[in-house]
Amino acid sequence: MTDLLVKNCMLANNKDPRDILIEGGIIKDISTEIIVEKIPVIDADFHFVTPPFVDSHFHMDATLSYALPRVNKSGTLLEGIKLWGELKPTLTADAIKERALKFCKWAIARGTLAIRSHVDVSGQNLIGVEALLDVKEMMKDFIDIQLVAFPQDGLLRANCLNNLKAALDMGVDVVGGIPHFERTMEEGHESIRILCEIAEKRGLLTDLHCDETDDPMSRHVERLAMETTRLGLNGRVAGSHLTSMHSMDNYYFSKLISMLVEADLNIIANPLINITIQGRQDNYPKRRGLTRIPEQLNAGLKVAFGHDCVMDPWYPLGSHDMLEVAHMALHCCHMTGINEMESCFDAVTINAASVLHLDNYGIKKGSNGDLVVLQCKDKIEAIRLKPARLFVVRRGEVISSTRPVRYELNLRSKKENEDLLFKG
Ligand SMILES: [Zn+2]
Repeated sequence: MTDLLVKNCMLANNKDPRDILIEGGIIKDISTEIIVEKIPVIDADFHFVTPPFVDSHFHMDATLSYALPRVNKSGTLLEGIKLWGELKPTLTADAIKERALKFCKWAIARGTLAIRSHVDVSGQNLIGVEALLDVKEMMKDFIDIQLVAFPQDGLLRANCLNNLKAALDMGVDVVGGIPHFERTMEEGHESIRILCEIAEKRGLLTDLHCDETDDPMSRHVERLAMETTRLGLNGRVAGSHLTSMHSMDNYYFSKLISMLVEADLNIIANPLINITIQGRQDNYPKRRGLTRIPEQLNAGLKVAFGHDCVMDPWYPLGSHDMLEVAHMALHCCHMTGINEMESCFDAVTINAASVLHLDNYGIKKGSNGDLVVLQCKDKIEAIRLKPARLFVVRRGEVISSTRPVRYELNLRSKKENEDLLFKG
């Protein structure tokens, strides 16, 4: 908890620069010019300053395990789950912890200071839970980690209700599930009922992998909305992926969307993963497989984006850059309107923070002194350039920094050597 003055910040809602004063880890003042003595000062140099990135969907127990024990040849979700099943019995808590800690450092350097990570509870043991609870505690001064008890192989299909409850008893924060991976639609529905009732009884948030499939008849989201409303969990439940919505009949969707609004269901799309995993069995034209993001936003639903995977059985790439995630969503969903582009930025910052129910988030007086200085001028340029994170500040302390990136051309005339490369 330290003091810091950040000079010359360009903020989302101000045309002129502002100074930000952080005292005792909390934002105390935001004004045109703040002069204080004897506290550390950094200069944002008229760059864009944003609250930290928030990743609303990740799998930290699987990250950085790419090619262990082999690669996913088909690139499908189902081969990824099979591959994870092969890897699981060989995992140790130490190996999970080592990879997760390395990953957290990547995330922090990219300006992400909160992550919701699912952790598999469907195996023979709960070493993943133990490892990630340790990582959460070890990294708590730098990054908020929210854990979801996730029955990867199906709550009923893998008979792991006791494991899931044990994980929650151990301190896992959120109730997870995967209804489309249960044996039947009925079992999928039943799993949703059980999981939502557990969440209601324990006063917890819920976040289910839901309808991550190309099957337009995979309609578990309907049941999720119904149970959310029935149990009064409105605003506290998230549907992750929801890719079947891409393929649903338009008339049915027009009915469904009103149920999602009634339940105030939070939407979490995972653009990098959805675009590579969905549509694998299609001939041309191939479906994109992302959920209906513009329509959900227009209906007033809260939409957040997750990175989901970095170098694991499902995805061979990634460096945990949430701007890469926003960039992919913007392209795949035709969201090139100004407001739409900005909403893609919000989906990896303020909307994601809201979906995770983070306290004291945002650049405003009284909030946590957490911010990121990006080498760009606004949200849209951030998505366009995926620029350097010049400073990453947590509770008033600079926990990561990068020198401004400059390209030095060596062309024939001096004029051609001016840095005109990426200016708007
Ligand atoms: Zn996932």
